[in-house]
Amino acid sequence: AETGHDQRIAVIGLGRFGTSLAEELMRRGWEVLGIDSDERLVQQHRDTLTQVVLADATDEEVLGQLALHEFPRAVVAIGSHVEASILTTSNLLEAGVPNLWAKAISRQHGKILERLGAHHVILPEHEMGERVAHLVTGRMLNFIEFDDDYALVKTVAPESVTGMPLRESGVRARHGVTVVGVKRPGEQFTHATAETEVRPGDVIVVTGRTSAVESFAELT
Ligand code: ADP
Repeated sequence: AETGHDQRIAVIGLGRFGTSLAEELMRRGWEVLGIDSDERLVQQHRDTLTQVVLADATDEEVLGQLALHEFPRAVVAIGSHVEASILTTSNLLEAGVPNLWAKAISRQHGKILERLGAHHVILPEHEMGERVAHLVTGRMLNFIEFDDDYALVKTVAPESVTGMPLRESGVRARHGVTVVGVKRPGEQFTHATAETEVRPGDVIVVTGRTSAVESFAELT
């Protein structure tokens, strides 16, 4: 099956994380099968997801009955029950789910899921903690780090890039970052070009090596 056009996804575990994920996918037009062993949660999602099933996801027979191997994507959103998370992940991989995401609650848990062969491991609390550390200490309004030492930052434009076209500010040569978007107060973001003149008070989005964007966001 062509996985690129198959808009089906299974979300196993409808706790806070699984619920937010499933509901956002529904809003985006995906067909979501939710599975949880807690009857109360299954009832709660009956009308909001495409299909909701009350089941123990560690049970291989259950996974077979639900034909989960035919799903191009699945997310194991079981966190606090580490044993259930590991068993479910292992069973889904064994069944041949081609694109499996798994949530971990600790780095050790994440390591086990990776070793099992989970295609993507997410550590929501750790990742959010690291992100918030960037936001609480400085001027950054938003921060996203990609895995290969590359980051994207939203920040108030420092004085060294304002008052002249970006071409003249030499921001890339001096700070190792690229300004990709500019937002005047009360307006929408626009793409930055060499001709764009950033004004004091503008909010900008810059990309570059993580250390470079971190230093840049400390400038005033
Ligand atoms: P969150 O922190 O996002 O709320 P939790 O780890 O607390 O996540 O919630 C995980 C969900 O997974 C719970 O709703 C729980 O009922 C469900 N769950 C746990 N074990 C199983 C299992 N074996 N089969 C199906 N669902 C399970």
